[in-house]
Amino acid sequence: MIDVSYLKGKKVAVLGLGRAGLANCIALESADVKYSAWDDNARAREDALDKRLNIANSIEDFLSATDIMIISPGIPHTLPEPHATVKLAKEQGIPLYSDIHVFREAAPDMDVIGVTGTNGKSTTTTLLGHVLGENMTSQIGGNIGIPSLSLSAETDATVLELSSYQIELTDNLNANGVVWLNISPDHIDRHGSIEGYVTAKLRIFERNKGQGIAVIGIDDKHSKDVADQISKRDGWTVIPVSMTDKIDNGISVIDGQLYKDGKFQIDISTLPTLKGVHNHQNAACVYGIASYVYNMDNAVILAQLQSFDGLAHRQFVVEKKGSVTFINDSKATNAEATAKALSSFQNIFWIAGGQAKEGGLSGLEIYKDRIEKTYLIGEAQDDFAVFLDKQDMNYEKCFTLDKAVSAAYRDASGASSPSTVLLSPACASWDQYRSFEHRGDDFETFVKNIK
Ligand code: ADP
Repeated sequence: MIDVSYLKGKKVAVLGLGRAGLANCIALESADVKYSAWDDNARAREDALDKRLNIANSIEDFLSATDIMIISPGIPHTLPEPHATVKLAKEQGIPLYSDIHVFREAAPDMDVIGVTGTNGKSTTTTLLGHVLGENMTSQIGGNIGIPSLSLSAETDATVLELSSYQIELTDNLNANGVVWLNISPDHIDRHGSIEGYVTAKLRIFERNKGQGIAVIGIDDKHSKDVADQISKRDGWTVIPVSMTDKIDNGISVIDGQLYKDGKFQIDISTLPTLKGVHNHQNAACVYGIASYVYNMDNAVILAQLQSFDGLAHRQFVVEKKGSVTFINDSKATNAEATAKALSSFQNIFWIAGGQAKEGGLSGLEIYKDRIEKTYLIGEAQDDFAVFLDKQDMNYEKCFTLDKAVSAAYRDASGASSPSTVLLSPACASWDQYRSFEHRGDDFETFVKNIK
């Protein structure tokens, strides 16, 4: 746990009692710092009371004599509307921070690598922790894994996944390295515009001492602008990363071959759990930190990329039965995410459906040649069937996931070449499941139970 006793003598308000909020309370409690916590959800307050944490009796009590407020990343503090309690705190001039800010204030000398971007943060953070772990002790936290204040203070390298919401309230990250993966329009409601979103994320480059390595994916315009901007800033060396052009200065991946400053380094085309150009971008950014910040050898990095287990529910290889490989990509809750999976495999027996998002499956017809047959589930199945009919694609309505798994395996195991049964629903899971994780777990259970 991080020692936050630098806050002694102050009163801290903790708003939001999710995983990070609870961790904040526990760290404050163990450092004997005066604090009070609040969550609008009465159930969350009761659960925290059961854990003997200091829950305020009222909002007035929560805000009274407060020196700083730590707010959970999910709570809006500017756009679209500040949360009512945050608004009151602002009116009282209470400074607002993320837990990451407090973490860094309490542990300014730790080696920290920050990872951000619109897509691929969790994969990259986990992969980076795994690769670095071969040469030193490493841990991952922030938005994924361990909340920042529950991390160990004794680890050589700490990789933090940071969402724009967390970065916005952190002005002291002083990272040894940053991975900036990509930017696409997302979360615009919270930041007003794509420019606002990029500006919020730029705080990841705040520094107060030393020199850092910024590994930046430059294939989208916004990220390219960020690379240009940061390369002019004191304290940063920018390593650009491209998946489209072989660049003389930085990292490129062309046809799965990774180049550094234009020279071939390693072949990442056959990494078992990192298929597709998007995963090559993640692997290339990890390579950037491992190579430029920690001088790791190519052979060691490659071996670690090869032994990465992958992330649950994200193109996760569940198992192989004969020539059929089962992939759980339950996290793909929209067509854009499913496109990444469809572009990564061949001979696909595809399970899709659930609660449809706007646009449904449209755009995915370009992967038609890779798809042998589609197995439809959930409330979207009839609408999706109409779409697939129009595309002249073969499908079967199964409605439930267990039926879809059986039918897909029946067909895939009879196919003449190695094939993939892919759950990549392009839909939310709420019609039949509690969450995408619940849906993915069910898929894995059905796969394991196949006779
Ligand atoms: P995040 O943590 O940013 O949500 P994840 O690592 O959990 O990202 O990946 C979520 C999904 O995003 C994956 O299933 C994949 O479809 C897609 N994805 C992963 N990496 C990238 C990338 N570098 N560029 C674009 N899409 C990606």
